[in-house]
Amino acid sequence: MIPAAFDYVAPTSVEDALAALAQHGDDAKIIAGGQSLLPVLRMRLNAPEMVIDLGRIESLRGVRDDGDAIVVGAMTPHSVVGSDPLVAQHAALVAKAVEHLADAQVRHRGTFGGALAHADPAGDLGAPALALGAEFVVAGPGGSRTVAADDFFVDLFETAIGEDEILTEVRLPKRTGWGAHYEKFVRVAHQWPIVAVAATVRVEGGVIAEARIGLTNMGSTPLRARAVEEALAGQPATEDAVRAAAEHATEGTNPPSDLNGDADYRRHLARVLTRRAILAAAS
Ligand SMILES: Cc1cc2nc3c(=O)[nH]c(=O)nc-3n(C[C@H](O)[C@H](O)[C@H](O)COP(=O)(O)OP(=O)(O)OC[C@H]3O[C@@H](n4cnc5c(N)ncnc54)[C@H](O)[C@@H]3O)c2cc1C
Repeated sequence: MIPAAFDYVAPTSVEDALAALAQHGDDAKIIAGGQSLLPVLRMRLNAPEMVIDLGRIESLRGVRDDGDAIVVGAMTPHSVVGSDPLVAQHAALVAKAVEHLADAQVRHRGTFGGALAHADPAGDLGAPALALGAEFVVAGPGGSRTVAADDFFVDLFETAIGEDEILTEVRLPKRTGWGAHYEKFVRVAHQWPIVAVAATVRVEGGVIAEARIGLTNMGSTPLRARAVEEALAGQPATEDAVRAAAEHATEGTNPPSDLNGDADYRRHLARVLTRRAILAAAS
């Protein structure tokens, strides 16, 4: 279907984009890579009168080193994030997840910030961002504010970004030297996961000193598997110890049931994929 008619602006600064948002209010929609928004417009599930394209704002693109964090601009395409050496060195979990995100065309057009702002509970970037303890920098009429990962994902397709705000960058605290793995379970290649697990661990002398685990599609938002993290701390990085900790993977989850699998099946997957993800990260 062809989208309903809309006006279009492509500002070249965040300030001008915010001004356009303020002017058009509820009638405006931001477009980043368009990989999720355009299907929504074509199905006429949303019919904004004004589309504000962030594609010409150069300051929103790129990856930089900022001391104890790696900063990813919201408009940085997945393909750039996935091949960036700073991300690979200091936030390897994100690089691993991007490897499994969609196909090359979508990775070329879709953006890091767009995927996180979209907040699809089956999206591949939410759980790694949560597990890494990312910080989301959001610009609005009153300036910029920073939202912790724990507060960013509010509900299904809902984040802490206000209607008059724009996500400008995501700060990923450096976890240099940590092992990382993203274990994604799909029925068909290049698709959203039925369940996936993002694991990053710091191993010292064969012992798991610290672990941070995120779950994809086990609730209406990405979730931290805190019970697993606690069970792992101080344990040897062995199959038996990891298997026992992974049994806690479903605590605090509320997985959906759909054509790809019911909630019980997803709980089973969460335990199995958590064990696999941790063992791979620890090795
Ligand atoms: C065929 C196909 C397969 C896919 N498979 C996967 C997959 O396996 N895993 C996965 O995780 N994703 C998948 N995706 C989605 C992909 O990751 C998209 O890139 C992503 O969901 C949206 O990013 P975008 O830049 O295209 O955002 P857009 O579609 O342009 O925007 C998405 C939403 O976020 C808002 N938004 C965008 N940027 C900002 C910002 N800076 N500030 C505030 N709001 C903003 C928009 O208003 C819109 O509501 C797939 C998409 C397609 C088309």
